[in-house]
Amino acid sequence: MNGLLSLEQALDLLDSQLPLPEGNHIECLNLTHAQHRILAEDVISPINVPSFDNSAMDGYAVRLADLKNSLTLSVAGKSFAGQPFEQEWPAQSVVRIMTGAMIPAGTDAVVMQEEVTINPDGTVSFKALPKANSNIRRIGEDVKQGEVILKKGAKLTALSLPLLASLGIEQVKVFPRLKVAILSTGDELVPVGQPLQTGQIYDTNRFAVKLMLEKLDCEILDFGILPDDEAQFEQTFLAAQTQADLVITSGGVSVGEADFTKTVLEKIGQINFWKLAIKPGKPFAFGKLPQAWFCGLPGNPVSALVTFYQLVQPIIKKLQGHTDWKKPQKITALTTTDLKKAPGRLDFQRGFYSVNEQGQTVVQSVGFQGSHMFSAFVASNCFIVLERERGNVSAGETVTIEPFSDLLG
Ligand code: AMP
Ligand code: MG
Repeated sequence: MNGLLSLEQALDLLDSQLPLPEGNHIECLNLTHAQHRILAEDVISPINVPSFDNSAMDGYAVRLADLKNSLTLSVAGKSFAGQPFEQEWPAQSVVRIMTGAMIPAGTDAVVMQEEVTINPDGTVSFKALPKANSNIRRIGEDVKQGEVILKKGAKLTALSLPLLASLGIEQVKVFPRLKVAILSTGDELVPVGQPLQTGQIYDTNRFAVKLMLEKLDCEILDFGILPDDEAQFEQTFLAAQTQADLVITSGGVSVGEADFTKTVLEKIGQINFWKLAIKPGKPFAFGKLPQAWFCGLPGNPVSALVTFYQLVQPIIKKLQGHTDWKKPQKITALTTTDLKKAPGRLDFQRGFYSVNEQGQTVVQSVGFQGSHMFSAFVASNCFIVLERERGNVSAGETVTIEPFSDLLG
């Protein structure tokens, strides 16, 4: 091959080099402030769910022995959700019961109200003997007391947090938010809001990175735009790494005359890997400064976003303590367009996927695939991942896609 590191090799290196968060900085948060945070310990259920046997239907709680004597029985009373039946339950009677209400002691089954006839004298007639245990939700059927309900390293979401609330858990122990310093490099860069002079361009990357970091629940330290000046790179990298866990730069990471990122990283820290066999995004630097990790994104906005998605995202997740960090969602789809591809690098082309009338997942290229062409990216909703040794792809062939709306949607 071309001697470049594959994405899998890079991810394996990251896995072995990046530590899990330290246990001595754990925060205890109320559930209402814990969305998107990562659990620092297993959560054990303090209760059974359901915490008592209850009815799955509106109907009648019955004892089979009574029904074996007669299929017409009187009604002894009611059990409503939150208002259990607590009287004596005489022989040859049933208890009117609502969904979620506590099952009276001795109940064998609940019969749906739609299946009974209410007689003018108030008695209730059943058509047949119900099956024992029908329509009863048993104690602990959903969650058992003492069971590990969420594991350390799980991300707390709009799904898992309500589960914790349903168990009466008020607080959770989570890892601290990751502090990430960001900066863009390049003499040509101008912040949005300023007029462009000849040869200048607007700084896209710092804004894009900031938005993605917000989605990843990071604390952001913005170090602005750096001119292509080696001394300023050194000074700013050093300042950033004292305040942040991770420093992310963009631009200046290639081999041009004004590309100081690598030189400075080598001087004040170390480079762990640099060139990857992916397209776009061949120049991507991962390394370490004295007190923080370092990611140098390529300058082209498309390359910067792709490498952020494929590499920085897993780095952040691992540093956050998120255990599920290495599994991007991959789907197989049929391409409806030809795809140009040269063997040698793993390609992340931009595509738009959908499900056609036959129920097949199909994907089409969104056109311009140049790493400097950002506008086509916006029309896409997935990466078309073309294997390293693959050549041109024809319409009708199967490809792997990676929907990216979790971070870019
Ligand atoms: P570089 O890696 O610094 O050589 O940059 C590669 C290309 O990306 C050049 O065309 C730069 O002008 C462009 N570029 C670098 N940084 C940014 C940025 N923050 N926003 C938009 N384009 C950039
Ligand atoms: Mg540059």
